Amino acid sequence: MNNTAPLRHFAVVGNPVKHSRSPAIHQQFGRQTGISLQYGLLESPLDEFKRTVTDFFSSGGWGLNVTVPFKEEAFELCGDKLSDRARLAGAVNTLWMQDGTLRGCNTDGVGLLADITRLGIHVQDKRVLLVGAGGAAKGVLFPLLDAGCQTLHIVNRNAARAHDLGKHTAEHLPHYASRLSSGGLDQAQGEWDIVINATSSSLAGEAPALAGVTYAQGALAYDMMYGPQPTPFMDQALRAGAQLVSDGLGMLVEQAAEAFLIWNGVRPQTGPVLSALRATMQEG
Ligand code: NDP
Repeated sequence: MNNTAPLRHFAVVGNPVKHSRSPAIHQQFGRQTGISLQYGLLESPLDEFKRTVTDFFSSGGWGLNVTVPFKEEAFELCGDKLSDRARLAGAVNTLWMQDGTLRGCNTDGVGLLADITRLGIHVQDKRVLLVGAGGAAKGVLFPLLDAGCQTLHIVNRNAARAHDLGKHTAEHLPHYASRLSSGGLDQAQGEWDIVINATSSSLAGEAPALAGVTYAQGALAYDMMYGPQPTPFMDQALRAGAQLVSDGLGMLVEQAAEAFLIWNGVRPQTGPVLSALRATMQEG
């Protein structure tokens, strides 16, 4: 540990935010890499996100993660100071200051892809159903297409939002347009190799009201939400025939590692942190 370096201050900003495991993850990354840091929870009033971010950085903050429901607002705040990943996603989950200017990136997609690979599934040529059209869904669309999925069908409770997201993606990435489709939750019919729940339905203790989903042989059902117990979506998927189910704890650790790299220039090891976090979570 370098004890002479100044303490770096980080936080995750959201509303609600108290469920976040990000502080535990980043503190472990700090110990692992010898970077002296403090990582807190920052609950922002819903209508004061900009002020919350400004106050954090003016008081010397080094970096912020952004969670529900502020990722799109964080994108707007960054103007044109965005990474390609953030620009394509239209959502930001990682903020920092550089040359006195706020910058934004989106590390959710990299995190999801890394975790799906850890589970032994390769996205190439797979039929993917993406449930949700909020910031998290936006963040993973391009990486899924770029990884070579065969088809990507987006469904959302508010179907218009799914259509808008599909249209936006097809306009920005016309070479992927033929693989994309969209609809409401009642238009999820088909046989899928990977079904990803990118909604916050589990926060309300429920699974999305999906209709007509068939899981292919060896299919993966992946819930971005995580917790000590299987989520309602994971239970729903097992009942519907999914052979492999996972929550999003691994994605959380992987996207955090990518943010840590942006802020500190060092990539921490994720495996030990994921194991420790899972054990702590299961102990309650
Ligand atoms: P947003 O608030 O931007 O979007 C919420 C989404 O959930 C919308 O598509 C919304 O649909 C949908 N939704 C909410 N409640 C229900 C419900 N009861 N039934 C069906 N759909 C519902 O949130 P984010 O996209 O930022 O986050 C979504 C989830 O992903 C959160 O639970 C978050 O914790 C998790 N996440 C996990 C990560 C990880 O690393 N594991 C990373 C990022 C996110 P509608 O448009 O109709 O309102």
